[in-house]
Amino acid sequence: MNYGHPLKFGTFITPLSNVPETVIALARRSEELGYDLVTFQDHPYQPAFLDTWTLLSWIAGQTERVHLAANVLNVPLRSPAVVARSAASLDLLSAGRLDLALGAGAFWDAIEAMGGRRLTPGNAVAALGEAIDIIRGVWDGGISNLLSFDGDSYRLKGAQRGPIPAHDIPIWVGAYKPQMLRLIGQKADGWLPSIGSMKPGELQFANKIIDEAALEAGRDPREIRRLVNISGQFSTFRGGFLNGPSKQWVDDLLPLVVNDGIGTFILMSDDPRIMEQFALEVAPALREAVNRELPEAFSVSRIRPAAVRAKRREGINYDSIPASLADAVIEPGDVGYARVKSTYMRGGSPGIIFQVKNTAEVSESLAFARSHADLPLAVRSGGHGISGRSTNHGGIVIDLSRLNRIEVLDKSTRRVRIEPGARWMDVAAALAPYGWALSSGDYGGVGVGGLATAGGIGWLARKHGLTIDHLRAVEMVLADGSVVRASDEENADLFWAVRGAGANFGIVTSFEFEVDEVGSVGWAQLVLDASNTAGFLEKWGATIEAAPRDLTSFIILGPPRRGQPAVAMVMALVDSDQPDTIINRLQPIADIAPMYDQRVVITFYADIMANAQGGDHNGQGEPVARSGLIEHITPEFAAAAARLIHSGAVHFFQIRSVGGAVSDVDPDATAYGNRSANFSVTAFGSSRDRVNALWDEIAVHFKGLYLSFETDVRPERLNDAFPPRTIERLRELKSRYDPNNVFRDNFNIAPQAVIS
Ligand SMILES: Cc1cc2nc3c(=O)[nH]c(=O)nc-3n(C[C@H](O)[C@H](O)[C@H](O)COP(=O)(O)OP(=O)(O)OC[C@H]3O[C@@H](n4cnc5c(N)ncnc54)[C@H](O)[C@@H]3O)c2cc1C
Repeated sequence: MNYGHPLKFGTFITPLSNVPETVIALARRSEELGYDLVTFQDHPYQPAFLDTWTLLSWIAGQTERVHLAANVLNVPLRSPAVVARSAASLDLLSAGRLDLALGAGAFWDAIEAMGGRRLTPGNAVAALGEAIDIIRGVWDGGISNLLSFDGDSYRLKGAQRGPIPAHDIPIWVGAYKPQMLRLIGQKADGWLPSIGSMKPGELQFANKIIDEAALEAGRDPREIRRLVNISGQFSTFRGGFLNGPSKQWVDDLLPLVVNDGIGTFILMSDDPRIMEQFALEVAPALREAVNRELPEAFSVSRIRPAAVRAKRREGINYDSIPASLADAVIEPGDVGYARVKSTYMRGGSPGIIFQVKNTAEVSESLAFARSHADLPLAVRSGGHGISGRSTNHGGIVIDLSRLNRIEVLDKSTRRVRIEPGARWMDVAAALAPYGWALSSGDYGGVGVGGLATAGGIGWLARKHGLTIDHLRAVEMVLADGSVVRASDEENADLFWAVRGAGANFGIVTSFEFEVDEVGSVGWAQLVLDASNTAGFLEKWGATIEAAPRDLTSFIILGPPRRGQPAVAMVMALVDSDQPDTIINRLQPIADIAPMYDQRVVITFYADIMANAQGGDHNGQGEPVARSGLIEHITPEFAAAAARLIHSGAVHFFQIRSVGGAVSDVDPDATAYGNRSANFSVTAFGSSRDRVNALWDEIAVHFKGLYLSFETDVRPERLNDAFPPRTIERLRELKSRYDPNNVFRDNFNIAPQAVIS
């Protein structure tokens, strides 16, 4: 029987407490030698051994790639809920490298002496089964209720779930008795015995029990990886099992793979020479021999547990996912689903998420999306899209967050290459050591992909323009899956469209920017009285328009708090490190109205952008935001805006200065329209109808909108976002580059064929 698991190799190192440095060195050597896994026995009652969790944590910090596991973890000495949390924490800290191998415990007297559970053969199986359920329950952060469990061995009353591990931690069980094997068939992801403890024929016998139990439980036996601890000696002459030259080891192990479906061999040895010979001679030769014997065995996609398959969504052919994408897939039943289903702004429940690692995987996942043409397709980079269209309900998400490299291509021309999943705070931090900055947005958590395909209005806008004004080339995957480069020289019309309407034309997999020299800057946060809201807005607008373009300022207002005056938060960046210049630019703003608070510093752009936390997105519901671009803050607009702010329908009202360098660019040079605006206005509320009704009243003042701040996806918004000439050209290009309207789920510019 072959279970289709690609072959893996691990080491099993004795965690001797008298030579901790040797233990660490052997673990690091295992990684260097290419082993997939390092494991340690766990006997917490034994002072000769280092504590296993502490050791695993230490080794995780000393290695980069290799997976880690106890071999096997003594469950009766530990609370399963605490094991779950320790495992998830170490998995997160080690970027998904913890695997969990459990055992019912050996040396029961010792377990009892240490205060562990009193077990008998009769209750050990049930206790381990309950422990597995609890561990999985704690990891299931997708379920919002608290975890209660009323078992014979364990009880939990309203335990909080989480943290969610970084990857689907497999649970393997080390056991031999038929009842335990049945439990493995029913619940575990792997079986981990030691070959030396088994009699001839026992492996086949045990596999049969596991397979039958799995089938009875509605599982596919291939869900269960077969691992085995092995030991032996290398010698010149052939001897007994695993006692001879490397060739003999290969001959001895091959039948275990071919006939018994073993997928992982774990070498029990503390001798670095044996570890080396096994890694350098046996492992590659065994892989080759297996590939010869079983050429087809590993081409199948990942086997998904029955529990995961049970949560699959209608209309998605999960079985057609190519094997090459198997590791990129996150399904609704997967442990990691809760952390990727929603975005910063919007709750989602997609049917499948492809967390891709390279351009080829983008093309492949797009092919999968094309074969499900009736499903929504979302493209996600940083997940901060205000319209929330980078998630969906029941559809497909292509998540580029792992495509996040930032590299300098040419120092002399300040050319940098940035992948879409990078966040703007990381970009700013990477450019700072060169004395460079790239005009981006105001929030460091926003992703490059969404912002750099739409515009990019940020703290450097008036002096340095929009983000897209610094774009020199992109690599992108088009609707048909082809990969193209677009710049002023190649696919120039596509390059024009990408700068403002990129989401409609493909998936950008890398951006090349020419960045600016930006040294220290002046940065101010002021709180001013805005009781006379309209008067404040008007004066602020006039002050900004009169200021040199090294000043860029944003203001935020909301309804006044009970018993407090209306205030405006004013943020301002002065692109100068000269205190006199900074004060000169800020003083007119400070003079607009009485000031309640102020903070002015000379700092780096990267420090200003370091204003976001990492972490998962937990957006809920549907976002409601509206956007408008305006040339001047006229008395009429200021009065209308003041009414909106005081209506109670919006909780966040923002005006950003644009103009300056943004307006220098020919309006036909990029698809981003309406370059004559001096201000971008945004309002967030919770009732879509109320906000829309009030917004319609002030819309007469606007000359367009910025799509990145809009949530109204009705088609007429496109006419606000793009001037007539631009939209006409965009439709023409859409017909050419995406005739079947694959990219339609975010402010769709329908191709001519679709609208006519
Ligand atoms: C807190 C916050 C602050 C913000 N501040 C600013 C700001 O200062 N200035 C500003 O201009 N905007 C700002 N925005 C808006 C922001 O620019 C957009 O929401 C942008 O789309 C976010 O990019 P993302 O990659 O994080 O978003 P995602 O949600 O990942 O993507 C948003 C949309 O962009 C498209 N897209 C994403 N990646 C790609 C790609 N690689 N190729 C093609 N299309 C793609 C998709 O249609 C997707 O639905 C802010 C948003 C938030 C939530």
